Amino acid sequence: MTEKPSRNEDEYFAREDAEKLYRLHRERQKHDDQKKRDEQKAAHWMKCPKCGYDLERIPWRGHTVDKCFRCGVTVLDQGELEALAGKEHPDGFVGTFTRLFKGI
Ligand SMILES: [Zn+2]
Repeated sequence: MTEKPSRNEDEYFAREDAEKLYRLHRERQKHDDQKKRDEQKAAHWMKCPKCGYDLERIPWRGHTVDKCFRCGVTVLDQGELEALAGKEHPDGFVGTFTRLFKGI
């Protein structure tokens, strides 16, 4: 019988995977020049990361979130998840999630 991984094990492996992806991203970024980054930003600015459709800015709870009306994705800028969640128990979803990927 296979034992189900504990929550801490899941978080450990999720963080390890995220750190590996971050290292690959940083390595790839060394080879990208500024012109290429500017072109990519212009091509993808306010486009849905899932389907490529235009994102719309929606005011919500004093913040602005980016929403795709084609596929339903909601995109949050850095720090918006924490700001929207406000204060919650440190072991709540947002606290655990942001702590897991903090510094990456
Ligand atoms: Zn979409």
